[in-house]
Amino acid sequence: MNVKIITRIVLIWAAILVVLAVFRKVHQVLRHVRKLANLSNDSRQRYFSIPNEKFALIKRRLINSPLVHKRHSREFRLSPALNMGALPTRLQTQFLVAYTVLNIVHCTISIDWHNSETFYEEGRNRCGTLAVLNMVPLFLLVGRSNPLIEVTGISFDTCNLLHRWLGRIVVCEAVAHGAFFVAGTIAAKGDQGWFIIQMAIKSSTFILAGVVALCTFVALLLHSPSVIRHAFYETFLTVHIALAVVATIAVSVHLKELPHRLFLLCAVLVWVLERASRFVMLVRRNVGPGMTKAEVEALPGDAVRVTLRILRPWKFQPGQHIYLYMPTVGLWTSHPFSLAWSDEQPDFYSEKALPISRQDIIASKKPEMSLIIRRRTGFTDKIFRKAERSPGGKFTTTAFVEGPYGEQNFRSYGTVMLFAAGVGITHQVPHVRDLVSAYAAGTCATRQILLVWIIQSPEHLEWIRPWMTQILGMERRRDVLRIQLFITRPRSTREIHSPSASVQMFPGKPDVGALIQKEQERQVGAMAVSVCGTGGLADDVRKATLNRCQKTAIDFYEEAFSW
Ligand SMILES: Cc1cc2nc3c(=O)[nH]c(=O)nc-3n(C[C@H](O)[C@H](O)[C@H](O)COP(=O)(O)OP(=O)(O)OC[C@H]3O[C@@H](n4cnc5c(N)ncnc54)[C@H](O)[C@@H]3O)c2cc1C
Repeated sequence: MNVKIITRIVLIWAAILVVLAVFRKVHQVLRHVRKLANLSNDSRQRYFSIPNEKFALIKRRLINSPLVHKRHSREFRLSPALNMGALPTRLQTQFLVAYTVLNIVHCTISIDWHNSETFYEEGRNRCGTLAVLNMVPLFLLVGRSNPLIEVTGISFDTCNLLHRWLGRIVVCEAVAHGAFFVAGTIAAKGDQGWFIIQMAIKSSTFILAGVVALCTFVALLLHSPSVIRHAFYETFLTVHIALAVVATIAVSVHLKELPHRLFLLCAVLVWVLERASRFVMLVRRNVGPGMTKAEVEALPGDAVRVTLRILRPWKFQPGQHIYLYMPTVGLWTSHPFSLAWSDEQPDFYSEKALPISRQDIIASKKPEMSLIIRRRTGFTDKIFRKAERSPGGKFTTTAFVEGPYGEQNFRSYGTVMLFAAGVGITHQVPHVRDLVSAYAAGTCATRQILLVWIIQSPEHLEWIRPWMTQILGMERRRDVLRIQLFITRPRSTREIHSPSASVQMFPGKPDVGALIQKEQERQVGAMAVSVCGTGGLADDVRKATLNRCQKTAIDFYEEAFSW
């Protein structure tokens, strides 16, 4: 029966992954076809603006829907420092409930609960087997470069959520496994039961390893609530990895004689391969003559601009983020940041940029990539203070860049709305540049772009001023791009002035629903609505988009700077 159950659960996982992978591929092909169909012919855009009624309903009620009302990304906070986490979406919740029920059912079916001679043993074996089986996806989903993200399109946030819930399921099954063992021994040996268990712990490596594994599992559960993870992320991560290593070794010793060890080996292999691939990527990108260098510059409004000269860079694409290691500031820790800008590679073939030596050739192939980092309380605070104290508000240091992760483009959409709050602009600027240049080159379906950026004060404009100046100067920009800036805390009304009809400034917060409604009325082709910013803004944009996605074809995209 255990073998049957294992096969069934493995098949369920495989089926889910295949469905997601096929869905992603079909979606990619459809988007490509839509882009090609609308490259030069606007008459077809109307066809693509009409939504598929059934799919729109599924998106509204299931795929993109928050669990209840509109709350998904806005976290529950007891105070600014006490983050209690966020609610999963409706689809995520349904999956988690279904998987939990599946595990409960499989822990209990076909066990003869009336036969007190066998049910302790059967229950113990069943729960132990399922706990070890669930460790495979538990380990697979934890890695930020795990292949499932690329193949199925599940976001890293969702992988993290699944990892947390699988962890809870594994711990519950391990506790049930231990409880069946203790209860079974006491039921069989009566008063002698506890003594026999004590002796077994002392004399049997098998039992001792099981007890150590169980205690470590419980410790993993107890130190992982959202409030601890968010308040002490680095400490949490180090302790979590150390406990996971101890638990894995203990389970491995416990399973020494059993075939279940194979699952554990698979889980460990998955984890080791993911870590090894990241290490290789890190070395390949950054280590060699010259190393990767970062120039950090303090900016007004509690932020820094980091300009990276990566030893072996890649092709910059919108939607990419990296993990940044800066040993002089954050020792071995790494933090995720969106790539906001890349300076174009000098034109190799133009007369002006003709390389004259080998060094020129190497240098000319290295675009600089930039990040904007908003000051928080840990690494980001240290980097800001170091830059502020340095001469000229700048310092240069050795850095290691891991990535790139993620990639996204909206070139198949006729209309694109990009919402950003504060430093969320780092995710949207590359899209704006990509779409404007593709429009000028005639390589996209996009005909109108609206960027809505909400900031607290005008000094935040400094974060991206040089890049915005370049974008505003791009060929045919006026035909396609409009920008609306909302300043929530202006010091005076004189700070609010609109430089042109296509770049407008407003005091206060936008009415997200009204903006989307207005854009929908003049929508060309399918529309993408993307948001990157606070949880509250993301929830408002999600709600407003879902409310309208049955009228015209609208897709919702969210980039959360949290997990
Ligand atoms: C995909 C992605 C892209 C991002 N892009 C940007 C960007 O372009 N600009 C920007 O300013 N911020 C960005 N962030 C957020 C940025 O990673 C965090 O603000 C930063 O890691 C906080 O570091 P800290 O030590 O100062 O955090 P703290 O002040 O200690 O904590 C602030 C919050 O950041 C979380 N956090 C801390 N360390 C990490 C870590 N290593 N990994 C993930 N979360 C962490 C904490 O859990 C907490 O919720 C992005 C986040 C993600 C997930």
